[in-house]
Amino acid sequence: EVTIRDLFKSFTLNGRRLDVLRGIDLQVRGGEAIAIVGPSGCGKTTLLRVLAGLEDPDRGDVLIDGAPVHGIGNQRAVIFQEPRLLPWLTVTQNVAFGLEVRGTDRIKAAEKARHYIRLVGLGGFEEAYPCQLSGGMAQRVGIARALTVQPEILLLDEPLGALDAMTKLTMQEELSRIWREEGVTMILVTHDLEEAIYLADRVLVMSKDSGTPTRLIDLDLPRPRDRSAPVFV
Ligand code: ATP
Repeated sequence: EVTIRDLFKSFTLNGRRLDVLRGIDLQVRGGEAIAIVGPSGCGKTTLLRVLAGLEDPDRGDVLIDGAPVHGIGNQRAVIFQEPRLLPWLTVTQNVAFGLEVRGTDRIKAAEKARHYIRLVGLGGFEEAYPCQLSGGMAQRVGIARALTVQPEILLLDEPLGALDAMTKLTMQEELSRIWREEGVTMILVTHDLEEAIYLADRVLVMSKDSGTPTRLIDLDLPRPRDRSAPVFV
């Protein structure tokens, strides 16, 4: 469960203070999937970075299961945007890497990695190198790598933004299936409203009016009756 209370975050840009997050309140239940949409620059990525422990808030509470999130290296939430795979490592080595740096022994890490590689539909590509994969496949490796460390919360920042339309559809179905099977809490930032509606239980719009509190407005859209049936065809 994620609780954010009265969160403020500002940056200094060219000597001027930029108040990006101004009093955010948000509650996400364990296992829930929410999507955040909103205009460019309103602070969506900043919010995810605070949740991941990559940015410290100026003030306010950020709690995961009641405990404060603090400091870089927090392992309870994983964020990814582009896969940024290491080109000299195989798919398995890339996926296992996150576990190895957390101290899991190499053989166990590789075993676990292979499980998640199959889960994202890449069985058979364990020994391939990143340059031998398509963009969509590389993205799946990124997802497998994020899942392998079994985070409590998966923070997805435009994960499918760079993919072509067909690959995007496939990956949306894949993400939806993974979310259902793994029961992980998911916070997705996307510019694609259809994707938000398809993947999330709740779609929130982040407001941008500077000078006023940042609000996350629940769109309260009708839900597709069957999650497994894409709403965009
Ligand atoms: P987009 O949809 O375009 O990705 P966003 O909603 O994710 O945008 P953020 O990336 O969170 O927006 O940025 C919000 C604002 O904070 C922007 O005006 C940006 O310039 C500023 N900002 C973000 N990170 C920093 C930083 N490290 N230093 C200074 N300003 C920053």
